[in-house]
Amino acid sequence: MAGVSRLQYATDIRLVRVMCSGRVDLEFVLRAFSNGIDGVFIGGCRLNECNYITHGNYDALNMVLLCKKIIEQVGLNPERLKIEFMTSGEGMLFTEVVDGFSKKVKEIGPLGKAEGIDQDELKSKLEEVRKLVPYIKIEKREKLESHLENKAEWDGFFTGEEIDRLLSEVTAYHIDPDKCQACMICFRRCPVEAIEGGKNKIHVIDQEACIKCGTCFEVCPPRFGAVNKISGESVPPPIPEHERTIARKVKAK
Ligand code: SF4
Ligand code: SF4
Repeated sequence: MAGVSRLQYATDIRLVRVMCSGRVDLEFVLRAFSNGIDGVFIGGCRLNECNYITHGNYDALNMVLLCKKIIEQVGLNPERLKIEFMTSGEGMLFTEVVDGFSKKVKEIGPLGKAEGIDQDELKSKLEEVRKLVPYIKIEKREKLESHLENKAEWDGFFTGEEIDRLLSEVTAYHIDPDKCQACMICFRRCPVEAIEGGKNKIHVIDQEACIKCGTCFEVCPPRFGAVNKISGESVPPPIPEHERTIARKVKAK
């Protein structure tokens, strides 16, 4: 409506249209900051007025509340991220909110510099967190499905301590070489091809590529139970390549 009514608003914003505010993924926001964007604003339809049965604006709200705590943990000012709900007919409100946000971000200053964080250090911290997005979404799945009805509930929904724990006690997955039967189920189901394996080969997880989604843990047949969850301790090194072949006994005829 702001465009149709020829309303003027801050020229330093770039619009990215999505079908629903719920489409704005945590990863998108972290990527924007990692690419040096000073502030991210998400405009969604009013709560309880979503056009879809999914009520994606509640998802967007929860994602923003979580992301604010994450960027704060990284050292950024959480006011660099904002969500506001409005109808498509409220063009005037849109321009006011966008102008206010643009002014706020300018007051805060350039990303990282204003917070006294080295640019390379900031980028690497944000990239580290970005890799953990699938894990974060799984760990906080229940909370991220909540429908918060008022602003009083927003504050403290995610606490700094909770996010600190979440990021410092990341669960890793490891395949026990003594239990792996090379059935290849985890190999086929891993969404990022982080498992090295093959027929009659003990499987090994590439910890650098692993996004901690936990799929391998869930799909490894219970009779093998070869995938372990590891938290708070270091992951054992992978077994050497030449020790990975499983010698099967051939049945006597
Ligand atoms: S947890 Fe398992 S399935 Fe998920 S990315 Fe890591 S290795 Fe792949
Ligand atoms: S699903 Fe379990 S037994 Fe099968 S290859 Fe993976 S770790 Fe090994």
